[in-house]
Amino acid sequence: MQAAHSIPLSPAAAPRRLSILGATGSIGDSTLRVVAQHPEQFECVAFTAQKNAEKLIALAKTYRPSIVAIGEADKARDVRAALAPLGIKVLAGAEGIAQAAAEYADITMAAIVGAAGLLPTLKAIEHGRCVAIANKEALVCAGGIVSHACRQYGTTLLPVDSEHNAVFQVLASEHRTAVEKITLTASGGPLLTRPLSEFAQVTPEEAVKHPRWEMGAKISIDSATMMNKGLELIEAHYLFDLPPAQLDVLIHPESIVHSLVHYADGSVLAQLGMPDMAIPIAYTLGWPNRLAVTTPRLNLAQVGALHFSVVEEARFPALALARAALVAGPAQMIALNAANEVAVAAFLARRIPFTGIAACVARVVEKTEPLAITSVAEVIAADALARTHAQEAL
Ligand code: NAD
Ligand code: MG
Repeated sequence: MQAAHSIPLSPAAAPRRLSILGATGSIGDSTLRVVAQHPEQFECVAFTAQKNAEKLIALAKTYRPSIVAIGEADKARDVRAALAPLGIKVLAGAEGIAQAAAEYADITMAAIVGAAGLLPTLKAIEHGRCVAIANKEALVCAGGIVSHACRQYGTTLLPVDSEHNAVFQVLASEHRTAVEKITLTASGGPLLTRPLSEFAQVTPEEAVKHPRWEMGAKISIDSATMMNKGLELIEAHYLFDLPPAQLDVLIHPESIVHSLVHYADGSVLAQLGMPDMAIPIAYTLGWPNRLAVTTPRLNLAQVGALHFSVVEEARFPALALARAALVAGPAQMIALNAANEVAVAAFLARRIPFTGIAACVARVVEKTEPLAITSVAEVIAADALARTHAQEAL
């Protein structure tokens, strides 16, 4: 993995320049919860948002980044009226977000949801020093390109996703060749024990209600289908450079053990903590040091018991689809991700049943020719084609 090969950030004396791509989302909130506890350690450079102008304005007034960008260009006028008097530069549209992402930062939190985060994330890799990556879809549709860009520009990639952050914390680089496998834990989401016969009737309100984590709508639905864990398998493949056969998934409903690394001598190392994204985020923001954060503390006596079980494939077909796409190659992974984004949006809009999500993804991936994908332009073209196929499949 690229993480840890470049020079650690400078010591705490100078504040770290921090950009947040997707500042108005759930990861943006958790990031700013950590920053608010260490205001002297961070200087905000750029914040981006897609729609929520009001929240972007409020955040910018509090944290005073030099630049903000709003994706929906018709909202830029209101944002400018509110922030220009404070000397904050306001950019608009996808172009504006990419430009904000290209502003130099010591650390960028890449927290845009979906493949839309790919180009801004690549800009941050090109112009910044460390990129903390929450935007797993960027790795799913262009993991090879992202890894290559990190090597090319000497940028360190730090995993934010709780499972990958856990692996990163316990994966000692000197023991890298002794890793037998990685187990990603999965809570199982809100439908873990619901009778399978009722899945077609599951509503967006039920599916979005995650038992352990508070997250944006798209990843919450992905957790209910377990496509999230499928995307995470692919994410782990790129972050830790391990083949599919060395990547495992285990259901762990308490979400306390965030993942495990199995070594050749039989030792298994895990990272534990309360299910709060501020914990892995703080690890990336402070890396290679640890920042103190006032998250709820883990009390194992109170938790009492931790449970683990294998995934029921019939209940969660999305996981096997993702694993198959990882084995098949980049074109299939792009198709999987794009079809899933389209299908999740259709489910949230009540256009298809819950079971239609995996069905749509399966149909689109099946239709996808295995192509070599080597450039961002090819990723974008393959993504657009898969979205068209997904709309047809719906
Ligand atoms: P969210 O929906 O709460 O926020 C998404 C952010 O992206 C918002 O700031 C939004 O303005 C921006 N955005 C949306 N569409 C955009 C577009 N087309 N162009 C530019 N910006 C756009 O999502 P989230 O839960 O914060 O998740 C963000 C990413 O982090 C996702 O990739 C998700 O899988 C990953 N992640 C989230 C969590 C979590 O706890 N929320 C945990 C692990 C990984
Ligand atoms: Mg995760």
